[in-house]
Amino acid sequence: MKKLLCAALAASVLLLGANAQAADKKAKAKAKAKPKAHPTGYADTPFLPGGKWRVHDDTRPRPKVITPGNVSGAAPSDAVILFDGSDLSEWVKGDGKPATWTVQNGYMEVPPKSTGKGGAIKTKRGFGDCQLHIEWATPHKVEGNSQGRGNSGVFFHDGTYEIQVLDSYNNKSYADGQASALYGWKPPLVNASRKPGEWQTYDIIFESPKWDKDGKLVKKAYVTVLHNGVVTHHRQEILGGTGHKRVAQYKQHAAKGSIQLQDHSNPTRFRNIWIRELDLNSNN
Ligand code: MG
Repeated sequence: MKKLLCAALAASVLLLGANAQAADKKAKAKAKAKPKAHPTGYADTPFLPGGKWRVHDDTRPRPKVITPGNVSGAAPSDAVILFDGSDLSEWVKGDGKPATWTVQNGYMEVPPKSTGKGGAIKTKRGFGDCQLHIEWATPHKVEGNSQGRGNSGVFFHDGTYEIQVLDSYNNKSYADGQASALYGWKPPLVNASRKPGEWQTYDIIFESPKWDKDGKLVKKAYVTVLHNGVVTHHRQEILGGTGHKRVAQYKQHAAKGSIQLQDHSNPTRFRNIWIRELDLNSNN
């Protein structure tokens, strides 16, 4: 009899346990089926400075959705492709005639002076505040020294502000003329150069200077540069229009200007060039 009672007790304990487990499983399944609803925004929070939007305002326009490139350096969906390796249709010479730099194997290259096809080239389109991606390589064979080694440059506003392109790999030259330097003004924070002949990248965020209606400079230009993915300038103020052996100065120009690539008589190569215009005054 005692044995029977014990068995019955054990059975009911087991049953209770099983019931509890089943209830727990049911509760979990219910929770999984209906996740907690989070608010998409608020209408009762305090206003931010300026009074237009509340903190987490549900009516504030969401940022535009774009598709990022699937590999680092690939153009996102809203970029203007300035060079995809096939032709120079977005580029002209200084005089506005079609650009004649050498295009082969997916890159463009500064042609030898003897061909008469060189000279700086510039984009047909003008840009103000922008994000520029550009890849470049200096000659594999090292020739010359200092500023004579793999020299070129990426200029904003029709040749006005230069981010230096140079073979700065074990190449002694002045600090404000290094690769990624704001030429004649600020050396890069670090020298992130790859070896001669290797492809390198610049990701540049450029903020244009602004003048008021009386021609007074009210905002200087600023630039952020990543060289091979490494920050070499962080919103660095630009001193003025780039110069050689002189102190840079501002001279009023249009709100938008071309991107220009320098011919410094070295066969420097460029590929995968794209740009995004930035609306830095967006009130969203
Ligand atoms: Mg240069």
